[in-house]
Amino acid sequence: MLSVMSELLRWLDPIADIRSDASRLFVSGARGAAAFVPRGFPDVLARHRAARGGHREAMLSELSTAGWPKSACLGEEEKRLDACQTCSVRLSKLWLHRGQCLLCETKLRSRGRCPYGGARCSRSFCPHDSRCIVCEQWSCERCRLLRGDGEDVWQIAAQHQPDVIFLDFDRTLCTTKAGASPLSGNHSLDSDLVALCGMHQRVYIVTRNSRSEDIAFFLRQHGISARLKEEQAHASEASGLRGNVEVRSIKREGFRSKVNFVLQLLADSMGGSEATGLFVDDDIKELTEDCEALREVLASGRLLRLLFVRSGGKE
Ligand SMILES: [Zn+2]
Ligand SMILES: [Zn+2]
Ligand SMILES: [Zn+2]
Ligand SMILES: [Zn+2]
Repeated sequence: MLSVMSELLRWLDPIADIRSDASRLFVSGARGAAAFVPRGFPDVLARHRAARGGHREAMLSELSTAGWPKSACLGEEEKRLDACQTCSVRLSKLWLHRGQCLLCETKLRSRGRCPYGGARCSRSFCPHDSRCIVCEQWSCERCRLLRGDGEDVWQIAAQHQPDVIFLDFDRTLCTTKAGASPLSGNHSLDSDLVALCGMHQRVYIVTRNSRSEDIAFFLRQHGISARLKEEQAHASEASGLRGNVEVRSIKREGFRSKVNFVLQLLADSMGGSEATGLFVDDDIKELTEDCEALREVLASGRLLRLLFVRSGGKE
């Protein structure tokens, strides 16, 4: 609690100082969590999540042998109980999580299904740890599917040294919503991803946003050497711009999916030899589309995918 209060106090000043022409600090998401937080904003719940996780297994084995505790079923008269969506047992809210009782949740997991998203999560449910990468803030190296914010992308890029980095634009690199031009309104870029764009030898902005010219212009305004497919690389030393970024609109170029683009690029890179890539997007569908086609590059470890979640939006 103290840590939350001190964070709150720390951000009140910058919030109070903000003017209409300042860059954005916070953007709230449609699903409850913040979609964009400023650099340095911590994951305040991490410690509590870890403590809860440490006791879970013991609790589950106790429940499956001894049954629900009496207190879980009190309150029937006052209609304070809710039913499990799977087995209909009526329990107080404490024992149900997102509509599933703890035992059904565990059972669904062991059958390889996400207890919360069901069939919708068939491609984001990790069979190795029985966790959903979307619903449960999970990352799995073996699925080659991680979650993280800009800082994580930076670290993973340093650790894995991919030959090519593929970055989504809307809501990943930039605060723009799908399809909007970054030049209208007050948009900002993720500072860690910008730093990466400035340093890495080969970055593609892979977007369904068709405003590629605006995106390239906006990136150049922020010191990044960005160009469209058909343009020559800017002489970066003369222009003072950093990096080597190409903006590609998959819609305009007629690619079936982002995965389709990524695979083609990887195959064409380095004369088709073993080019490796890191593909970052805030939309799980983009990362898991065409999964048959993806299989080979994932199995050989040539492609790593990262579901982009801004820090603070992890819970
Ligand atoms: Zn149940
Ligand atoms: Zn799920
Ligand atoms: Zn896995
Ligand atoms: Zn996006």
